[in-house]
Amino acid sequence: MRAWVIRATGSLDQLQLADVPDTPSSLGSREVRIAVRAAALNRLDLFVVRGLPHEYRYPHILGADGAGVVDAVGTDVRSVRTGDRVMINPGIPDYSCEYCRAGEHSLCVNYGILGEHRPGTLAQYVVVPEQNVSVIPTLPKPLTWAEAAAFSLVTLTAWRMVVTRAQVRPGETVLVWGIGGGVSLAAMRVAKLQGASVIVTSSSDAKLHEAQKLGADVTLNHTTQKISQEVRALTNKRGADVVIENVGEATWDESLRSLGRGGRLVSCGATAGPKVGFDMRRLFWYQWSIMGSTMGNDAEYREIVRLLGSGELRPIVDRVFPFTEARAAFERLERGEQLGKIAIDGPEA
Ligand SMILES: [Zn+2]
Repeated sequence: MRAWVIRATGSLDQLQLADVPDTPSSLGSREVRIAVRAAALNRLDLFVVRGLPHEYRYPHILGADGAGVVDAVGTDVRSVRTGDRVMINPGIPDYSCEYCRAGEHSLCVNYGILGEHRPGTLAQYVVVPEQNVSVIPTLPKPLTWAEAAAFSLVTLTAWRMVVTRAQVRPGETVLVWGIGGGVSLAAMRVAKLQGASVIVTSSSDAKLHEAQKLGADVTLNHTTQKISQEVRALTNKRGADVVIENVGEATWDESLRSLGRGGRLVSCGATAGPKVGFDMRRLFWYQWSIMGSTMGNDAEYREIVRLLGSGELRPIVDRVFPFTEARAAFERLERGEQLGKIAIDGPEA
């Protein structure tokens, strides 16, 4: 089958469109094979190409997010059947460890993500457990394949950060860094659904303008404005109740300066570097909660799919590339030009 692979880590020069062996002809009893109709990129995919500290089995097929048609099912699969149109939840646990049994799948001791730890979605077919697919909801204006592919990873990540971890409440002020990023944009929309007032940042005035149209209450340019001062001024000196972080070193100090008493900071990433510090006295005196979050559990996934079906949280797609031009899609992501998700058609589109 056709697939986008790497055979070594490094720059985007490592990307190759290749013929690779088909997925295993015999599926596990609860596995499903999906003929991919669209995939979508995440920053994770760039990190996978650059090299992550786990063993790769080359050729390694890229891509976490995807949607397509169920092509074959294992003997015990009951929730979907051949021909169903499905979206994939790319976080794959073992469904058996103590964390899985407690319903906390993204804490699984054997957690893996498609395209990172397992063969990904930038291929003709991908195989996942049946628990990891969800039939695409029917909407008055049907979801495109690209929208369906773009939905899962960022929406699930944002939902867990905003709702489960930070427990954002109506009327609270939430600061979201870097609104061009997929998780940030999803976090803004989830926070708005929770009734919060959302302040977003970007280095691009054009992206801020778009974010305003998508519901941002306040937009700040972090290259020309001092974010913490602006947040204090906007909140009558209180500071933000919640800060949504995925940048790390470049924003950390300003995130804490923006955080009010009793504030919660949730991080799901460190794209600008992982080493940060803070003054413990401010932590206890202001009674901050500093939390990590990654992906989400099955209950959270079901909830976001339900909301998608009721017309909320429809993905924002930046651009769709043909399968053969996936490299250009990666380049657009690397340059950070997008607002919303970059999608790639399946090989047979
Ligand atoms: Zn587990």
